[in-house]
Amino acid sequence: MNELIDAHGRAIRYLRVSVTDRCNLSCRYCRDKDMPFIPHDSILRFEEMEDIIGLMVGMGVSKLRFTGGEPFARKGFIGFLRRIREAHPHIDLRITTNGTLLGPHVEELKELGALVNLSLDSLDRERFAAITGKDLLPEVLENLHRMAELGIPLKVNAVAMRGQNEAELPALAALAMDHAIDVRFIEFMPMGEDSIWSDALFWPAADILAAAREHWDLLPCDELNRNAEERGPAKLWKLKDGEGRLSKGHFGLISSVTHSFCTSCNRLRLTADGQIRTCLYDDREWAVRDILRKDGLEAVRRVILDAVASKPIGSEILARSSGPVAKKRMSAIGG
Ligand code: SAM
Repeated sequence: MNELIDAHGRAIRYLRVSVTDRCNLSCRYCRDKDMPFIPHDSILRFEEMEDIIGLMVGMGVSKLRFTGGEPFARKGFIGFLRRIREAHPHIDLRITTNGTLLGPHVEELKELGALVNLSLDSLDRERFAAITGKDLLPEVLENLHRMAELGIPLKVNAVAMRGQNEAELPALAALAMDHAIDVRFIEFMPMGEDSIWSDALFWPAADILAAAREHWDLLPCDELNRNAEERGPAKLWKLKDGEGRLSKGHFGLISSVTHSFCTSCNRLRLTADGQIRTCLYDDREWAVRDILRKDGLEAVRRVILDAVASKPIGSEILARSSGPVAKKRMSAIGG
């Protein structure tokens, strides 16, 4: 048996690869400034990632997302992407990035047919710096607009934090009014033992929706919302303003905590140090780096099949926990 079907009948089609745990930002909800990084020699080499990806594409993976840390913070990332595209011309190729470092690569991203998720929690320069630790909002906005002009399929993801970026809902969502960009608010997830997550900071999707309704009419997108494979876990709406203008993009909510989408999860994760992780919330990991180096790809295939066989539904882990839901912070897993 070669296909990746888990014990709950879910076919694994989507691999998220963290190319590095290093990041030039220290978003407060994601990582601490002084968090130690994985030592360089423990990180998978790009060629090793290419081998594992090739193996998994052969096992049915059709969608790849590169994340981190910050993927563009790893030297050689764009050359790696180019090789991935050459090896897998038809793969659905996506990147999650903070948008600060991709300036020199915008045209190439377009040529490579990569879809980009840009993480952007604030349009206020001071607040952006307070959340991320760096005053880089102008760079992010310049890159966002260049990508939008080139027609790179773009989503903006904002981690919703009560009392932090709550007041920015209208400004952030307005990006979807003027551009063909989906702006999605993600519920803050209690990831990692030292997370700053608290009930006070948690802004549930139902409340975000109510706040959005104070500014716009929200028109449901039934067709899009049925096609979870394409749209991902977000529920999407078109916005209509007081003058009857419809948004070019969509407003979206990802209710990872209050309405988890675990039952339809088709994902597997590969961390930068070569651990297969079957679920964001499940701390079990299957180490493949040393197996690859010592025993080769066939041995890795067996480990992946083992891992997939014990992929949990996921939501039961979330339901059991009253505090942090995983030991690692998001930056060490990739999100
Ligand atoms: N550096 C890249 C970026 O900023 O997009 C990729 C890595 S980052 C870990 C991936 C995504 O995880 C980002 O959109 C980030 O906002 C999100 N994230 C991190 N911690 C989170 C948390 N506790 N809850 C929800 N989303 C989180």
